[in-house]
Parts: sequence; C-alpha cells; structure tokens
Amino acid sequence: MSIHPQVVLHPKKQETFWDGHPWVLRSSIVSPTNELQTGNVVDLVLPDGSFVARGLYHSSSRIAVRLYSWSANDSLDETFFTKRLQSALEFRDKVTPFSKSQGRRLVFSEGDLLSGLIIDQYGDYIIVQQTAAAISRFIPAWIEQLKSSLSPAAILFRIDEKTASAEELTTTDTMLHGSLPAAPIRIRENDVSIEVDLAGGQKTGYYLDQRDNRVAACKYAFGRTLDMFCYTGGFGLTFRRHAPLVTEIQAVDSSDRALNQAQHHIQINDLAPVNYVKADGFDHLKQLADRKEMFDTIVLDPPRLVSSRSQLDSGLRAYFRLNSLAMQMLNHGGTLITCSCSGRVSRDDFRHMLLKASRRHGRGLQILEQRGAAADHPTLLACPETDYLKCFFCRLP
Ligand code: SAH
Repeated sequence: MSIHPQVVLHPKKQETFWDGHPWVLRSSIVSPTNELQTGNVVDLVLPDGSFVARGLYHSSSRIAVRLYSWSANDSLDETFFTKRLQSALEFRDKVTPFSKSQGRRLVFSEGDLLSGLIIDQYGDYIIVQQTAAAISRFIPAWIEQLKSSLSPAAILFRIDEKTASAEELTTTDTMLHGSLPAAPIRIRENDVSIEVDLAGGQKTGYYLDQRDNRVAACKYAFGRTLDMFCYTGGFGLTFRRHAPLVTEIQAVDSSDRALNQAQHHIQINDLAPVNYVKADGFDHLKQLADRKEMFDTIVLDPPRLVSSRSQLDSGLRAYFRLNSLAMQMLNHGGTLITCSCSGRVSRDDFRHMLLKASRRHGRGLQILEQRGAAADHPTLLACPETDYLKCFFCRLP
C-alpha cells in the first residue's frame, strides 16, 4: 500500500505518462478528494488504483503534478533529488569538462528528470533557476551540493516573472553564495572569448545551446554572409574564427545592448570586422529582398515565435516568411542555417514549413544536417518539449 496520497488519472489520458512525460495537467486528473498542498509527494494512479508514477503536487498551477519517478520503490526525498543532481553533474563532466572558462548547462529541467530546475555554469559562477514551486524544499540541499561538488565563486538564484505568476512564487534574483565580479564574466567557446554579464540590471545571458552548431556550421559557411538575430554575435564570431571562406558578414539584431556586446567581442578577439545592423529582423529581411541583395550563407536564429498551442499557426507562418525570404536571397549552392527554439514546433512541423518555403522558389532544398541543442541540454524522448531547438543546415541547389 502506498503511503502517499493518490491522484487519479483520467482513464483516457494514460499513454503519455506510461511513456514518461513528466507533466500531468490538471485536466488529465480526476480531482483529488483530499486536501493536498503544493510540494506534497503524490502517487499518480489509474482509476483501479494501480501505480503509474510518483511526483510532486501543485495546488493551483496548470501542471498539477510533476513526475520524477516511475518506480514505486523510490522515495522522493532529499537523498533521491541530490542523487539525481549528482548524475546530471557527472554527465556534464564527460561532455563538457570543467575549466575556469567553460560555459555549460549543468541541469536541463525535464531533460535531466528534474522538472523545474535549470542550472547554468559560466566558469566559476553558477546560476540556479527555479521554474516549479513543488521543488522549493530541495533547493537548499542542491545549493550545498553545488558548493561541495564545484566550489564555485558564486551562486545566483533566480525565479523569473513568468514562473512566479504560473507557480505562485515570488520573483527573485539573489546571491546564495559568494558575489559576482564587477566586470563581466569571460568564457571561452570554440576558441572565441565571450563576455557574459550577470550582474545588476545589465543581465545578458548567453545561448549555450547553440555552441556546437556555431562551430559545425563553419564547414558550410562561405562568401557573403548574413547572420540574422545575431544577439551578442554567436554565429558570426565563430565564422570569423573558423570559416576562412566567409568574406563579408552582416549581422542583424533589434537589441542595441546585444549589438554593442557583439562589437566588443570582435575587439577582444581581434577578429576581422562584422557589419552590425540594428533593425527589426522581419522588416530588414524584406528590405534586403526588395533590393535584390544576394548572399551565399544566411543564418536565421529568431527568438521563440511560438509559446503556446494557440500561437502555432501564426508562428509557423512567421517562420515561413523568414525562410522564404532567405531562400529568395540565396545564391545557387548557398547555405541556409535555419533554427527554431520553439518547443511547440515539432521537427515535423519545421520540416513541413521548410518544404512549403522551398516549393515556392521551385529550387528544392537539400538538408545537410538536422541538429538540436548541444549535449549538455539532453532531450527526454517522452517529452517532445525538451527537443525545443531545431537547427537545420541546408543547401539551396
Ligand atoms: N543567434 C544568437 C541567438 C539569437 S537569440 C546566438 O548565436 O547567440 C534571438 C535574438 O533575436 C535576440 O538577440 C533578440 O534580441 C533578437 N530579436 C528578437 N526580436 C527581434 C526582431 N523582431 N528583430 C530582430 N531581432 C530580434
């Protein structure tokens, strides 16, 4: 007999939870009769009482239960959760060994079976982000574990606004250990120095997930290059370091701060110039196309364009518009590096959108590599949302 309160699954909603999807929406359960509180350990059961999985309850969030174990023998206690963090850390030491200048994701929430916890490391500095209220009581143990395993100079703890309103938490940005340096933190990625500013109101994180894609793309990048949605320079800087066939680069973003940082990155790395342009990406691409400008390589790495199911159609139309314009401006044999970081857009949706865009130009499209996020952002097969980053390397014949 289970000692935990039971939450009964709606009979029609079993499949995904057997497979191991960690989110049980309130609409998937027959409401629990007893008074459960946020953070309570509960057993997810079928209407006949048989065990499915064990998780943590939230009394009001859309995600009623987050699942952490599919074995009735596991106790969801501090020992269980510190072991899970240990396993995530051991894996990171294999794929991205620690160095004082390494930027890496230590924990990727559902991808590490730790729904609600994201931990990034920039050299000596660690940022813990909580995205689920149910795990609150384990945070202190995890912080102690990070201190003893990694001896960081500082640990910053963050709850953002979106999480706070969905999970009934309070936003926070607190140092739980040590302090941040006054100067930005410098990390090294693919032989390029990148500054990451985490202090005060000047927060500019970094997209660690594209690390391997940036360098892998160098093999296909050449000639006149356009780096759309460049943020602090990511793809263009890596091309300058590792893609000798790239001639000129125009890089576009709407954020002044990101572009200033990108320009600064050119200087500290002593790289050949990049023409940074501040503009709305959609308008700028349209203007370039109207002027009949042509490129040999185009990178499209827009921000998340789909955040909810209701935005899927309009978001896919926006991806279509971007990709269609890019294909129109690519020379024959040109390279298109096209990305989507929307978890709601499946690989099939993305492929279909590309097919429609290429059909319009009647030139076909060759797919050279279908990539995702770097391995320190593992994908959980049962949870398609963790396969959020699509990065396709294509060639326009
Ligand atoms: N390619 C980058 C990451 C891109 S993140 C890298 O390798 O690091 C998405 C970027 O899109 C952000 O820098 C954001 O400032 C920018 N952005 C968001 N909306 C935009 C818009 N409408 N036009 C141009 N840039 C936009």
